[in-house]
Amino acid sequence: MTAHIVIIGAGQAGVQTAEALRAGGFAGAITLLGDEPHGPYHRPPLSKAWLAGDIGAEQLVMRAPEALARKNIALRTHTQVSAIDRAARQVKLADGSTLPYSGLVLATGSTPRSLPLIGGDAQGVLALRSRIDASAIAERMARCIEQQLPVVVIGGGFIGLEVAATARKKGLSVTVLEAAPRLLGRVLAPMLSDWYAQLHRSHGVNLVLGAQITALETDAQAAVSGVRMADGSVVPAGLVVVGIGVSANEQLARDAGLECERGIVVDACGRTSDPLILAAGDCTARRLPDGSLLRLESVQNATEQGKSVAAALLGQERPFTATPWFWSDQYDKKLQMAGLSGGADQWAVRGDMGGDMVAGSFSVYHFKGNKLLAVDSVNASRDHLQARKLLDAGASPTPQQAADVGFDLGGLLAK
Ligand code: FAD
Repeated sequence: MTAHIVIIGAGQAGVQTAEALRAGGFAGAITLLGDEPHGPYHRPPLSKAWLAGDIGAEQLVMRAPEALARKNIALRTHTQVSAIDRAARQVKLADGSTLPYSGLVLATGSTPRSLPLIGGDAQGVLALRSRIDASAIAERMARCIEQQLPVVVIGGGFIGLEVAATARKKGLSVTVLEAAPRLLGRVLAPMLSDWYAQLHRSHGVNLVLGAQITALETDAQAAVSGVRMADGSVVPAGLVVVGIGVSANEQLARDAGLECERGIVVDACGRTSDPLILAAGDCTARRLPDGSLLRLESVQNATEQGKSVAAALLGQERPFTATPWFWSDQYDKKLQMAGLSGGADQWAVRGDMGGDMVAGSFSVYHFKGNKLLAVDSVNASRDHLQARKLLDAGASPTPQQAADVGFDLGGLLAK
């Protein structure tokens, strides 16, 4: 059979893989299969600039179909893969047809978790993953503005908080219900969680921490009308956005007998337990040298794994081991995160956290003992870029040096 790489999922990781294959000299056929009606687009603006109305649909486009065609990458939208036949080396499509492969890439992304509560599937209870989801939320927000109905966001994670900030920008009344005692508790240092809580409250968000939700209330038309709390009170809502995390889309891989554990298990080069099948992006769980699994949901992860997967298909080793990074925009604050903060036991703040919520250009350095693990920067891009270099190089300031703005952290790199 002639070389034919089939890529399932036409998102960030899928497009990156296809283009990196061509850039690396792959001359065989490449087919990019996506089950959405749209060609590849950027997801991050869906909760930020696009939802706020600051950019139009054309600015969401990641790669126009013609640009892919010029690289001889066959894009098929509206095309769902329903099974992988590893023995026959072919994928089965939802329309019953099959497609043979010489190499297969799973870039299937992830799916928002749904709310396992009564009323969780009512009209107006929406999650945000796709352009279709974002349009539904935008429409509902417009209706809330018209009818002066409030918005409730369930889950104080990045997507929920970005939606809350955007809704406030539009003048909507917003409540954020977070079950944990602090915002983004698994990734942010306690002082930054508090800072974000204060930021949202200063913009008029009714933020409830430790929130216990028991059900969603509906009106006579079966549309959501409020969120019932454990104390019996009801928070009124014309729209409920649920942002309680995602699950990796691993079912195809699982059904095909590939190793899966909270994601499709891959090595640093994106290889699965089948040498002909690789995986990249949100759908993966990367096995680290110590045997643990790392799940990342970010543009950088999808991009870098896509490049590693393409290299592996070309017979090269390109492990993705760089420092992970991520960003989130809320109001006029850009948070940029570098590294993995899990296990941190002390923190140092560099810069001005701006008690008035207006100034605020600073970074929080996470340490385990005296070892730098991660850096979260707010409106401090230079700190962020430097942090990535420090972490990549394994260079670590002491917490005292990190907190001292007079200390040249860049000097640690030169040594
Ligand atoms: P996706 O981009 O989700 O692509 C997977 C594609 O595969 C989807 O189109 C899916 O429909 C398709 N698919 C799945 N199963 C099948 C099948 N069986 N057959 C055919 N097609 C299939 N990351 C950041 O780093 N910074 C941010 O600020 C940020 N903001 C975000 C805001 C929002 C609202 C969202 C939703 C995500 C955000 N992310 C952000 C995360 C980032 O967008 C994802 O990590 C990234 O898109 C992952 O790329 P992917 O290719 O793995 O998955």
